[in-house]
Amino acid sequence: MTMKRKVAILGATGAVGQRYIQLLQGHPWFQIEVLAASERSAGKKYGDACNWVMESNLPKEISEMPVASADVESVEKAGDVDLVFSSLPGDLAGPVESEFAALFPVFSKASAHRMEKDVPLIIPEINPDHADLIKVQQKQRGWKGFITTDPNCSTIQLAISLRPLMQFGLKEIIVTTMQALSGAGYPGVPSLDIIDNVVPFISGEEEKMEAEALKILGNFNGKVIQNADFKLSASCNRVHVKDGHLESVFIKLDQEPSIQEIEDAFSNFKGEPQKLKLPSAPVNPIVVRHEKNRPQPRFDRDAGCGMSVVVGRIRKDPIMTLKYMCLGHNTIRGGAGAGILSAELFVAKGLA
Ligand code: NAP
Repeated sequence: MTMKRKVAILGATGAVGQRYIQLLQGHPWFQIEVLAASERSAGKKYGDACNWVMESNLPKEISEMPVASADVESVEKAGDVDLVFSSLPGDLAGPVESEFAALFPVFSKASAHRMEKDVPLIIPEINPDHADLIKVQQKQRGWKGFITTDPNCSTIQLAISLRPLMQFGLKEIIVTTMQALSGAGYPGVPSLDIIDNVVPFISGEEEKMEAEALKILGNFNGKVIQNADFKLSASCNRVHVKDGHLESVFIKLDQEPSIQEIEDAFSNFKGEPQKLKLPSAPVNPIVVRHEKNRPQPRFDRDAGCGMSVVVGRIRKDPIMTLKYMCLGHNTIRGGAGAGILSAELFVAKGLA
């Protein structure tokens, strides 16, 4: 990689936008050129517009950068951009991202375009071949750029854990999530709603998990994606944890593998990012813990710099075939880290 690509971040002041800024510091392939957010922030210095909630300090040069409005004209005026990371709210992202995708490669964390037939829904370890769907999209839409999307945060970690189990024949999956507060963005859930509490509802989340996993684990035949044919049922809860979604997963398989075979399938799983040695690829996409009481959000969310999914408590189930717990960092593996890894994959494949 000779020249670094200059990137714009749309939604740069939010929970995922801040994580993008943090993870892109010193990135070997990408450098931040433009930060964009709502009209409330536009025109201010980033440091004044944003309440920085990352654990690391806000870099001084980022703090001094002006915030642009999240539209093509303002972003083009603010800098010379090669690609766009979007972490806009899902209900606004649709038309704005399309406007950008006509001109730029757009890597989106928002739900707006995920389920469109000509839009890839990528987890680089699982379906890197789906990236080629952008050729169909560019032809159909007449765009110079394209849009590719990352799945919902709770779907990403689940789908990564499901991929190595496909060899045993996935039939049915039941998942209950315990999702962190940062998943609701910033400032997110009011403190008086969540202190001393669990909220057993996250708007749209169960529907997203149930639909997205089938597309991600489906087959791309060069023209369309054919969904995977297992059934998935999700039940989603918001819990009093800052970062890291924990999921309790029950699976019915065609075969009856031993616990050791399942554990080996998780531990040995590697994908294209590991083969290509992409800068943000964790060495182990799945880490297996053997302690009786792991994974836990506070201890395990930073595994593989937040890019590994941690699985534990793998056991046989008397009704289904097996059950296990799975944990992922929602704003890294489920958020900005996923967007950056996708962009690295597209660059490595010569698509961006
Ligand atoms: P957030 O903290 O609420 O941030 C939203 C961002 O969008 C802020 O930068 C905000 O700018 C900007 N924005 C709001 N209204 C806007 C408008 N009208 N025009 C332009 N920009 C506007 O949300 P988030 O958690 O970062 O989530 C961002 C996206 O990523 C969402 O689509 C979400 O579903 C998805 N996602 C989130 C997570 C997670 O763990 N949080 C994980 C995966 C995917 P201002 O500061 O100026 O208002």
